Amino acid sequence: MPDGQSDEAVLLAILNSTPVIDGEQRDELADPVAARDWLVGLGGRGTRKEREHVLAARVALQGVVRGARPPETLAPLLDGVALTPALTPAGITWNADVPADRDLAVRAILTWDALTKDNAGRLRPCANDECQLFLIDHSRTNTARWCSMAVCGNRMKARRHYQRNR
Ligand SMILES: [Zn+2]
Repeated sequence: MPDGQSDEAVLLAILNSTPVIDGEQRDELADPVAARDWLVGLGGRGTRKEREHVLAARVALQGVVRGARPPETLAPLLDGVALTPALTPAGITWNADVPADRDLAVRAILTWDALTKDNAGRLRPCANDECQLFLIDHSRTNTARWCSMAVCGNRMKARRHYQRNR
């Protein structure tokens, strides 16, 4: 398993690969050549099959995290995945046994599951309804609402200010 990016970084990158820029939804995986670089940058192989698996996982995960789809939506993406235990000085770690092309997609789903169980509610859509991005809240108070304070946080504050003063 490549460890170029943390599991959470892989999950967020996949969830956030359809950003809205200047009011238009983009897809960072739409262009095959750009998608190859994008996948390799995440520690993947950049193959056509890998892109298909990541796209399928993205649609399902975005729907599940937004609450628009049930978690069972993810089941087909885990078909045939087996976990193999490895004993390390720190105890047992479980490694997913999947073909290399499915690694990124399966990692994203396993990370979604771990976050949902251990840090319930910390993975969520940005509170700006014009933004398509997601965040993982690591703050102690668990009150972060924006994918980025610099972008959506300030934009929403400005909007509220404008509405109050109208
Ligand atoms: Zn946002």
